[in-house]
Amino acid sequence: MRPEDATGRMTEMLGATGWKLRRVLILGLPVHDVTLAEAVQLILAWSREASDLQQVITLNPEMVMAARRDPAFRAVVERAALVTPDGIGLILAAHWRGTPLRGRVTGVDLVEALARTEVRLFFLGAAPGVAERAAAVLARSAGATIVGTWAGSPRPEDAPETLARIAAARPDVLCVAYGAPAQDCWIARHRTELTAAGVRVALGVGGTFDYLAGIVPRPPRIVRHLGLEWLYRLLRQPWRWRRQLVLPHFALLALADGLANRLAGREHDEPEAIP
Ligand code: UDP
Repeated sequence: MRPEDATGRMTEMLGATGWKLRRVLILGLPVHDVTLAEAVQLILAWSREASDLQQVITLNPEMVMAARRDPAFRAVVERAALVTPDGIGLILAAHWRGTPLRGRVTGVDLVEALARTEVRLFFLGAAPGVAERAAAVLARSAGATIVGTWAGSPRPEDAPETLARIAAARPDVLCVAYGAPAQDCWIARHRTELTAAGVRVALGVGGTFDYLAGIVPRPPRIVRHLGLEWLYRLLRQPWRWRRQLVLPHFALLALADGLANRLAGREHDEPEAIP
């Protein structure tokens, strides 16, 4: 199945992976209007055909606020091959601007969907043993091909051993759980070594392994459907409140940005070719 068959929103352009995808700007940061099915198709195509590493970022409002403060992280987001909307805040912000997104694509959804394909996965990050447990769960429940797991750390002195382990396993897709923005900056910093190790796609997946291994309970479907994960996380992991303090600020900025965009009549962001 080609992605444009599913939705009619993607148009195949030059080359096998030269798809066109609509991109919107949320507080100046690029986010692609992509569905889970399309993102998986794109990652599978890249894992077969890309000549170098393609970085995927699952962007949430906390990360948007982090990128506004940190130019290095902003540059990583701007250079990523695919930025998916993760978090109800991005869906609302896009709606307020008059450039709606079709839905959310989270790290855990992507990993679960990729686990059901033939792609060779490597799970990097989380506390020791957690990635291994997450891999065992997905191998059993989804028949995933997970060619390696390693906790490692985002510290520069740990990179050589981590990269050697990845190079030995030769995965197509690397999932990195060091929390944002550390995981996304780690991928960008090691782009050349990862390409040499045969990795074609790398994505930051946040707390995904903790969910899959059952360390942190995943919000019930109804909570996810209502877009209340932030509240669920706040109640279950109250130590996160300090990180979530940025969310009301994000909402205010996004409302003002949406209003300004509509007043200026710039509702339609330009489509962007990928890659
Ligand atoms: N993590 C890690 N090393 C670090 C910092 C975080 O392995 O130096 C892991 C942590 O164990 C967790 C994951 O990163 O599994 C994501 O953490 P968090 O839930 O804070 O990320 P978010 O989903 O909010 O991006």
